[in-house]
Amino acid sequence: MINQNGKLVLYSGSSGVGKGTILKKLKELDENVWVSVSNTTRGPRIGEIAGVDYNYITREEFEDLIAQDGYLEYAKYCDNYYGTPLAPLNEKLAEGKTVFLEIEIEGALQVMKQYPDILSIFIVPPSFEELERRLRSRATEDAETIEKRLEKAKEEIGCRGRYKYNVINDDLDKAVREVYEIIHRDDE
Ligand code: 5GP
Repeated sequence: MINQNGKLVLYSGSSGVGKGTILKKLKELDENVWVSVSNTTRGPRIGEIAGVDYNYITREEFEDLIAQDGYLEYAKYCDNYYGTPLAPLNEKLAEGKTVFLEIEIEGALQVMKQYPDILSIFIVPPSFEELERRLRSRATEDAETIEKRLEKAKEEIGCRGRYKYNVINDDLDKAVREVYEIIHRDDE
């Protein structure tokens, strides 16, 4: 069960779509926004910080927390586990924060099933070609991983209709504004 004081926002979009960048800017605009830090079994990318971007843990540690019912949701994505730990999430919701869960679709669908009225936002790339260009130019993954992520992206974009709102990221500032308006519009 999750605390209902704050607002929970499901936030998805395929790899490379720029959803992390949008969130960074949104946090500057709205200090009530808190982004949940997930647990993952994948290793850190260059520039990522443990405890900020993710909690990097072993498969065994991940499975231990599953056994303790410690996740709101979790999923396997391209051979690694990713999950939302419940305890910090509830703490922030109790403080009245707007908590963003930046998660992939399988996990998001689990949460929608539990909480059908939840606010959900999907970030859409201007085109698949543009997404491919961004992913390849990011150069943080090897060729095989990029191919896997592109396949996954195709599948995920097909599910965008499951989300309450779709935001096209063709202009960063415009996308940030749109997300800001969505989370505040829902206050009414
Ligand atoms: P990346 O490896 O690019 O950081 O993340 C891969 C995918 O996993 C992204 O779509 C990201 O949103 C998703 N993800 C990150 N944390 C979680 C989580 O806690 N649960 C689920 N289901 N997906 C997550």
